[in-house]
Amino acid sequence: MTLKDLKSEVLSCTKCPLHKTKTNAVFGNGNPDAELMIIAEAPGYYEDQSGVVFQGKSGKLLDKILAAGGFDRNRHIYISNIVKCRPPSNRAPNKIEKDACLPYLYEQIELIDPEIIILLGATALKGLIDPYAKITQVRGQWINWNGRLVIPTFHPSALLRNPDLKRPVWEDIKKIVAKYRELVDPEHYSVYC
Ligand code: URA
Ligand code: SF4
Repeated sequence: MTLKDLKSEVLSCTKCPLHKTKTNAVFGNGNPDAELMIIAEAPGYYEDQSGVVFQGKSGKLLDKILAAGGFDRNRHIYISNIVKCRPPSNRAPNKIEKDACLPYLYEQIELIDPEIIILLGATALKGLIDPYAKITQVRGQWINWNGRLVIPTFHPSALLRNPDLKRPVWEDIKKIVAKYRELVDPEHYSVYC
């Protein structure tokens, strides 16, 4: 199975009811050879329209946050979501939808094979690691998951609602940059950290 094969499977998937209301399934974007992978929640309106992850307001903020760490989403990162089709009116995906879609994410992680995974927000944390985990309690902590290093932090949309969360996310970005230098590229350049 290649990433391309997996993508075509996802684009024609009918395993959960979200396929009926979506415009485009959003498989994932970025550098398939990246050592840094981001997993978020689900496509929103603009992602559903374009078929590309993080196109709206939270996408702009995400790009700013990544840039502060010297990361470019097309060069250093591959981004995907817990579910690949937009839940109507941007509600959180339910258990049936997550259970149906997660096998695609597991396969995608194996194919991308990143050293570091960043989980954005509660849905990503609960979906990948533990349904009872609390984002406020575990953000910024390294978790060992199937031999990979995972770090949860707040979703950019949470920062748009609550600017107080910018500070902790900045602390998390600094940790990620340090780990990236340790494991991937000692020369990784960032203006701010
Ligand atoms: N929010 C997400 O969780 N994922 C996207 O792709 C866009 C916004
Ligand atoms: Fe298939 Fe996932 Fe889309 Fe559901 S959300 S239809 S499981 S690709």
